[in-house]
Amino acid sequence: MNAVQEEASNPIIRAENLSKVYAAGRIMVAAVRDVSFEVKRGEFVAIVGPSGSGKSTLFYLLGGLTRASEGKVVIDGVDFASLSDADRTRLRKNRIGFVFQKFNLLPTLSAMGNIEIAYTVSGRKEPMDRKYLEHLSDLLSIRGRLEHRPSELSGGEQQRVAIARALITRPSIVLADEPTGNLDTKNSDAVLKMLVRSNQELGQTTLMITHNPEAAAIAGRILHMRDGEIIKIEKGLGQLGTAAGQHLPAQDGTVSAV
Ligand code: ADP
Repeated sequence: MNAVQEEASNPIIRAENLSKVYAAGRIMVAAVRDVSFEVKRGEFVAIVGPSGSGKSTLFYLLGGLTRASEGKVVIDGVDFASLSDADRTRLRKNRIGFVFQKFNLLPTLSAMGNIEIAYTVSGRKEPMDRKYLEHLSDLLSIRGRLEHRPSELSGGEQQRVAIARALITRPSIVLADEPTGNLDTKNSDAVLKMLVRSNQELGQTTLMITHNPEAAAIAGRILHMRDGEIIKIEKGLGQLGTAAGQHLPAQDGTVSAV
């Protein structure tokens, strides 16, 4: 195996015996318990589970937004815990694009302004690639909406602008936390389609947290969480299913070990 092949076959994300315990007063809450899994480069993985199952905590751990109580998160061969706060922030800015349930667009700026400011804040030295922004705008069907402020856009359009904002720095990983949580079915379907399309066309690895099994089905692989643990891993459709009768392929069965 040559160096290029070896890099491509290494997992881009590795969670190893990951645990997070919160102290809520005198009570300790184990939000994530001994979770291990790997994500391959370019994969689209959904993490699904009911409220309180530990999805957000896992998201924060994978994004380097909080420290693990035990275990580790390895991004592209680099252990988050081994880094200083400044280096962890740098790794996050260079490699990860975040999409949240709340679009968090700045209300006084246009869609374009929101994307530009995100690029500036990322600290990239080279100027923003306008051609790439045009490509993203076409991919996300927001080309005609870039001069509008968030209040002039539908929820779905706002979320697609937020996705463009996350993608403009060409992150190798996109972490999306309930990206369709604030959207109606039509807008939600459009956003999910765009996430799949950008994953397939731009090749970044995508991890999406959701409590909605239908949304999760668009992923290539679905990790089911319950009480802080991954209880099942199954194959997804890899695309948006038809409304009538979604049939998931047979389950993989066991949770794959690291
Ligand atoms: P989900 O995203 O699946 O709803 P969370 O990761 O938000 O799950 O929460 C998992 C568990 O951890 C829940 O029992 C929740 O109450 C608890 N929890 C989450 N954040 C905190 C915190 N900052 N302090 C204490 N407990 C927390």
